[in-house]
Amino acid sequence: MSWGIIATWRMALEGIEVSSEKISKGMSAGDIVESVVKAVEDYPLYKSVGYGGLPNENCEVELDAAFMDGNSLSIGAVAGIKDFKNPVSMAKRLSEEKYNCFLVGTGAEEYGDENGFERKNMLTERAISFYNKRKKAIKEKGLSPYDGHDTVGVVALDIEGTMAVATSTSGLFMKKRGRVGDSPISGSGFYVDSNIGGAAATGLGEDLMKGCVSYEIVRLMGEGHSPQDAADRTIMKLNNELIRRRGYAGDLSVVCMNNKGQWGVATNIKEFTFSVATSNEKPKVYITKNLEGKTVYEEADEEWLKGYIKKINKKVE
Ligand code: ASP
Repeated sequence: MSWGIIATWRMALEGIEVSSEKISKGMSAGDIVESVVKAVEDYPLYKSVGYGGLPNENCEVELDAAFMDGNSLSIGAVAGIKDFKNPVSMAKRLSEEKYNCFLVGTGAEEYGDENGFERKNMLTERAISFYNKRKKAIKEKGLSPYDGHDTVGVVALDIEGTMAVATSTSGLFMKKRGRVGDSPISGSGFYVDSNIGGAAATGLGEDLMKGCVSYEIVRLMGEGHSPQDAADRTIMKLNNELIRRRGYAGDLSVVCMNNKGQWGVATNIKEFTFSVATSNEKPKVYITKNLEGKTVYEEADEEWLKGYIKKINKKVE
């Protein structure tokens, strides 16, 4: 039986490398998406997810995460939580609850404490430096406070044919306290149905939510569209509608996979990267090139991959 894992951004690569071996040996899709997301949450230099995530305007790291099981359609999510090591694991556990499966703020934190989830101060010195730098730039150059955000969203198909999806993010850099984006919202930031496929989104949550993009992609795949076609149609349509109705559209990017392990991606930004591995394909990073009615992408070369490592390690001045 074939398997596959696809995730938003280059940051998921290490998690996918470790997980491809495990999924090929029978690990479940649910455990796989959790472990890929945890690897990103734990890595301090990925600055929009988990530890080292970008703070809100009060210099607090508020985290959102979600999990969905494609067999039972069970969903769990947390939003606006502070100081828990792995929000995705809380979301996964919540998906087992019949009631109260989406918790926010202090309620979610109480659940975390009561259920033994590990506490951790998620605000790093590096994130504080980014915060101070941005505050200065906003004041001096009038820059938009809301540049800088990414979500890790992972869709997996295991060898039993089960699918799952998980997301995790610190949301918009400099967001208002309590702001929640699309990432923990079913149908917007994520959706999966093992009978069809799954999708996950990244970009401006305020705009992604206007198109319920993840559900729409799964719906189109269910109607027989290929993953690539479903992703392109959904993103193009929302992008064009938003521009037509109000003159602009925020960043919109998605990854998706059907229950045969075929995948697709779409974006309306210049450079969206994603990581993927399947039973036929070793873990790889691709760079999408543009939006021309159909998303085009190519494999990241050595130079790009080295440049990326340099960039994330660069001193914050
Ligand atoms: N979609 C996330 C949010 O709006 C951020 C991102 O993926 O870039 O919170």
